[in-house]
Amino acid sequence: MNCQELDRLLYPYLDGEFQPEERMDVETHLEACADCARRVEKEREIQHALRRAARHSVQSGRAPQSLRMGIQVGLRREQRRASQMQWLRLSAAALVVVAVGGGWIALRPEERQRFVEDAARRHAKRLPVEISNAAPEHVEAWFNGKLDHQVSIPRLPNAQLSGARISNVKDRPAAYISYETRPEREGQEARRIGVFVFDDAARDLDAQALPSVHVDSSQGYNVAVWRDGEVVYELVTDLSEADIRKMLQEKERSSRVANVPRAEPVVLPISNVSHSP
Ligand SMILES: [Zn+2]
Repeated sequence: MNCQELDRLLYPYLDGEFQPEERMDVETHLEACADCARRVEKEREIQHALRRAARHSVQSGRAPQSLRMGIQVGLRREQRRASQMQWLRLSAAALVVVAVGGGWIALRPEERQRFVEDAARRHAKRLPVEISNAAPEHVEAWFNGKLDHQVSIPRLPNAQLSGARISNVKDRPAAYISYETRPEREGQEARRIGVFVFDDAARDLDAQALPSVHVDSSQGYNVAVWRDGEVVYELVTDLSEADIRKMLQEKERSSRVANVPRAEPVVLPISNVSHSP
């Protein structure tokens, strides 16, 4: 199960319309994916709020018991229809805005999916690179001035940077960086990884900062999407979702280690220093 499949199953899941094994699939994904877990939590809050509102309006009404029952059933049906409608809209429209406790969240799974498909399509074409055999810093310098946004090259563990070029994802000019995995065992084949980096200052795409990552699929590839401020990254590969998540977690771990300032002597305020004679 990936994020995209979960998008489709979200409402049936919340409505409890699942077989136990399907439920297991969803729950396994939710344990591994903080993004989807958050979404499910938000959706659950909406449903609870709806139920509370429905209960309140029925309880506070002065309608006779039979009518109240009727309203209750009607409300349940209406709520159910609304949730299905929302589900339909999610798969049909680019933008659904849902009110959550006074705040608004924009869900754009469709918009992200369009970028996922385009990135997978371009990666499959194996376009020639414009710069190869260069260190990440050199490739970063090479992109400088060619694109309006800053390109920082993801340092992927167990993968060798093989080249880069200017590309596009949909209408956005993008950096395209290609990698090959370093086989862990003899006889194992190196796998291709492509990373697109493009500007999304308008935040049109539903993408979060690492370690949160969406993994969608298109044309036989898995596509991981994340954001670093105004810049969105799309990583396209035929590696499994589990391998991608593991790779990105390791990348995060090692970049955190690299960014931790070296230990400096800690200077304590005088009042905190106890002097034992
Ligand atoms: Zn997910």
